[in-house]
Amino acid sequence: MQASVLVINCGSSSIKYALIPADDAPRLEGIAERLGSQEARLKAKDAQGEAHEGALAGADHAAALAAIFERLDGHTPVAVGHRIVHGGEHFTRASLLDDEVLAAVEQTSALAPLHNPANLAGIAAARELYPELPQVGVFDTAFHQSLPAHAYRYALPASLYRDHGIRRYGFHGTSHAFVSQRADALAGGNDHGWLTAHLGNGCSTCAVWQGQSRDTSMGLTPLEGLVMGTRSGDVDPGLHAHLHRQLGWSLDEIDAMLNQRSGLKGLSELTNDMRELEAAAERGHPGASLALEVFCYRIAKSLAALSCALPTLSGLIFTGGIGENSPRVRAKVIAALPHFGLDLEDAANQATLRGREGRIDTGLGPQLWVIPTDEEGQIAHETRQLLERQA
Ligand code: AMP
Repeated sequence: MQASVLVINCGSSSIKYALIPADDAPRLEGIAERLGSQEARLKAKDAQGEAHEGALAGADHAAALAAIFERLDGHTPVAVGHRIVHGGEHFTRASLLDDEVLAAVEQTSALAPLHNPANLAGIAAARELYPELPQVGVFDTAFHQSLPAHAYRYALPASLYRDHGIRRYGFHGTSHAFVSQRADALAGGNDHGWLTAHLGNGCSTCAVWQGQSRDTSMGLTPLEGLVMGTRSGDVDPGLHAHLHRQLGWSLDEIDAMLNQRSGLKGLSELTNDMRELEAAAERGHPGASLALEVFCYRIAKSLAALSCALPTLSGLIFTGGIGENSPRVRAKVIAALPHFGLDLEDAANQATLRGREGRIDTGLGPQLWVIPTDEEGQIAHETRQLLERQA
């Protein structure tokens, strides 16, 4: 396992990790969950793919990271690559996390109060435990810093942007970057215009022209845009005032409803899990069928809107748990874009599942790709690139 990078994705009560070798050697990966409680646990997969689970009672981020290092079978990484959700306008690419850079990350915390503080806790613990290792930050927002102003500005008083940074930032940048670069490699050349659809529990679309993000569906927060597992995506901006004035709901109640009780779950009154939803629709559950219809229509509508950002369309890319595994969702999205001239090959669509990469069009229209995302691999790649630039 030569020149491995340890990739860390720190949440408020969890740490996902993956030790990514420079070659094709197997990855060691796992997750420490329920940190800060007596139920804290570490679930790890070894190089043979075997699962191990152990108690970490009462462990905080630092104790969990120390336990994770012990599970690396004696491999010492060359660097730690940290996923950071929000980089504001400051970060356009991966950055070495020194004191100055960390102060800038802290300043963006107001834009991602639920995510950035957890990312910073993980970075602080990793720096303290392993001061000799370079620590690199890779930002979800960085790939979208190439958006032109007409795509990132809201039509709000300009002072809100100038004084408070209220603008569209976009998220899932690591995933959109990875799948569009992979499609460039598969299609040959990088003179391409791709529409990418990252469809997982969180969902977003992106228009990528010649390797650069030109527009995306998420905005100031990861709530804007598509219907997601439990998130509403776009609603009328007048909804908050309406719910407050007519029903007396507080801002916190409205925020929790839009983030946790909406989306596929809210529409179906059943589940946010696409597998269960498809099975229920199959059995004739009306809420599940409606949730599927709204979900797919809104993806198509978003892709059509984002096509305005591309001079030409090379093709569509599906990724994320749903994009990689649901031929039904892919077919419905494509059927809702009749004027795009897309020509789906049914057999290829049905057969491209469970981590398989493949082209699912007949060759007559724009290309249709299923590309499994690899956010950890992309973070390791960007971390290595940064170290090489600095060598
Ligand atoms: P992610 O957040 O990328 O892990 O994606 C999670 C979503 O992918 C959930 O809605 C899952 O139900 C969905 N998913 C995973 N496997 C399948 C499958 N075989 N068919 C349909 N949806 C799936």
